[in-house]
Amino acid sequence: MIKINEIFFSIQGESSKAGLPCVFVRLTYCNLRCSYCDTEYAFYEGSDMTIESIIEKVREYGCNLVEITGGEPLVQKESLELMTRMCDEGFEVMLETGGSLPVKDIDKRVKIILDLKCPSSKMMKKNCFENIEFIKPIDEVKFVIGTREDYDWAKDIITEYKLTDRCEILFSVIFGELEPVTLVNWILEDKLKIRYQLQMHKFIWHPEKKGV
Ligand code: SF4
Repeated sequence: MIKINEIFFSIQGESSKAGLPCVFVRLTYCNLRCSYCDTEYAFYEGSDMTIESIIEKVREYGCNLVEITGGEPLVQKESLELMTRMCDEGFEVMLETGGSLPVKDIDKRVKIILDLKCPSSKMMKKNCFENIEFIKPIDEVKFVIGTREDYDWAKDIITEYKLTDRCEILFSVIFGELEPVTLVNWILEDKLKIRYQLQMHKFIWHPEKKGV
């Protein structure tokens, strides 16, 4: 059994798949408490579902792209089997993870979006940098930036771990904290080889709307 907070069909708001229709499977629980978290409702609420019933529900939407998200999906060990089973069923599977739990046992067919926590999240000490060793070229590393300190920290990490040689890098702002134009100007000034992203769903719907 896996505790599921919600399963819904929406537009992928982030990553290199932004703009594509996608089924989201949001797992309950998170081991982090980021200062800017917008999914606190996923910390405890949810219903137990079998892997079969999750796949059946996802299949109803008739969409091949699926994102496993949270909370932190890797808190529930059964999430590994869920991802493998979904890949076996022919789904294109993405995983959004907060970067604090090991990714080494995740099925290699899964596109991992590894969210490294910057200083203003207050969760920076939880980053598990050993995970970078297991990042594949199809994966993406994401930084959510709220301050200049966050930006400088992200740049240092990219250099230290040669991240641009490993996979795509994503930068976005903490919604309402940092103006997108400020971050974009910093990126252009430094000629960073990264992809800037908006959280598209926050512009299509009300920023606090759930299930989109
Ligand atoms: S990892 Fe995600 S769900 Fe967990 S506290 Fe941080 S932002 Fe919220």
